[in-house]
Amino acid sequence: MDKDLGKILLAKTNTIIEGWIESIREDMDVESAKSLMYTSVRNSIPLVLEALATLLSNSLSNRPQKLDDNSLTHGIVRAEQGYDVAEIMREYALLRQAIFVVLKPDLLFGSKEEILENVRLIDAVIDRIVSLSLESFVEMRLKQLKELQSQLIFTNQELTRLVASQREDLSHLAHEMKTPLNSIMGFSTLLLQQQQKLAKKKDASLNLQLSEKVIKNSKQLLRLINDILEISRYEAGKMQTNLELVDPRSLIQIVAEALEHLAEQKNLEIILDCDRAPEEIISDRLRLQQIVTNLISNAIRYTESGSITVTCYTNSDRWEIAIADTGIGIAPEVQARIFEPYFRVGSTKGYCAESTGLGLSIVDKMVKLLQGNIKLVSQLEKGSTFTVTFPQAIDSQN
Ligand code: ADP
Repeated sequence: MDKDLGKILLAKTNTIIEGWIESIREDMDVESAKSLMYTSVRNSIPLVLEALATLLSNSLSNRPQKLDDNSLTHGIVRAEQGYDVAEIMREYALLRQAIFVVLKPDLLFGSKEEILENVRLIDAVIDRIVSLSLESFVEMRLKQLKELQSQLIFTNQELTRLVASQREDLSHLAHEMKTPLNSIMGFSTLLLQQQQKLAKKKDASLNLQLSEKVIKNSKQLLRLINDILEISRYEAGKMQTNLELVDPRSLIQIVAEALEHLAEQKNLEIILDCDRAPEEIISDRLRLQQIVTNLISNAIRYTESGSITVTCYTNSDRWEIAIADTGIGIAPEVQARIFEPYFRVGSTKGYCAESTGLGLSIVDKMVKLLQGNIKLVSQLEKGSTFTVTFPQAIDSQN
C-alpha cells in the first residue's frame, strides 16, 4: 500500500475529534466531561493524534517523545478536571472507535497483512497513550492526596483548639466525623500497602480506586470541619467584614453560572430576575457570594423538577434577594429549626456526603454579620422561597 496513513490521519484529525467529542457528550459514563467547555474536553488530544500520525508515517519502532509527553500532560489535566479512572478509560475507548470509524475506508485499502499491521500499530499506540495518561493521573492523584493530608493535619490542629474550648456541640461533631475518618484511615492504610507491593511490580492501576475513595472522603470531611470552624469563628466574634462596593447583579450572575452545571444535571432551569436590583451596594463580597451560593445550591439539591428563580430588587433603603424553588418544600413544624446547626429534615443521623446540616446555620450567621435578616416561606411539595434583606450600605461601626 502506498498510502501514507499518517498523513491521512493528520488531514482527518478534526473529523475524528468532532466525532469523538460528540460521542463523549452523549456517553453516560463520562460524567465529568458534562460540565466542561469544548476546549477543555478536547484538551491535548489533537497533539496526541499528531504524534500518532508521525508514528504511522514513519512506522518507527521507537516511540516519538512527543507522544509520551502529550499523553502524560493529558493524564495530569484529567486529574485536575476531576475525571476518575473509568472515565479516562472510557474516553480513550471512544477515541479508538472514532479513529477507526474515520480511517476505515483508508485502512481497508491495503493488503490483509498491511491492514493487520496498521490496526495493530494504531492499537499499540493507543494502549501506550492510555497507560501513560493513567501513570501521570495516578501521580497527580497521589500528590493531591498528600496535599489533602497536610490540610487535614492543619485543620486537625484547629479542631484540637476547639475541643479545648469546651464547645457543647462537640460530641455531635465527634459522632459525625467518625465514619469518614475511619474510612479515610482504612483506605489510606490499604492504599499504602498496595503501593508498596505494586511499586515492585511497577503496576499502579490497582490502587486507583482506593486513592479516589480516600480523596473523596477527605474532601467530605474537610468540608464538614471547615463548616464547623466557620461557625465557631463567628461565635467567637472573630469573623470580620471586608466592606467594598459590590454590584449585586453581577455577583448573582457569577454564582448562577458557577452552579449551572449542577442544575443542568437535574434538568432544572435557573431564572434570574434582577432588573430591579440596586446598581451598587456596600457589603462584603465573599460573604454575600457564600450566602447566595449556599441558598441556590440548596434549592438545586432539594428540587427534582421545575426551576430556581432568583429575584433581586430595591426596597427603599434596603435591598432584597429571594431564591425560590419548586422543590420538596419544608413542613411548617420544622421551618423554625431549619437554621439550627446539624438540623436536617428526615435524616438527622448518619453521615451523608452532600449534607452536613450546617449550610443554613452558616447562612443565618453570615446574614446577621451583614446586618440583614432571612425569611422562609415554604409549602410541602410546592417549593420554598428564602428571602434575604440587607441594608444598601452596611454600617461599618456595627
Ligand atoms: P444540608 O447540608 O443538610 O443541606 P442546610 O443547613 O443547608 O444543610 O439545610 C438544612 C436542612 O434544611 C436540609 O437538610 C434540608 O432538609 C432543608 N432544606 C434546606 N434548603 C431547602 C430547600 N431549598 N428545600 C427543601 N428543604 C431544604
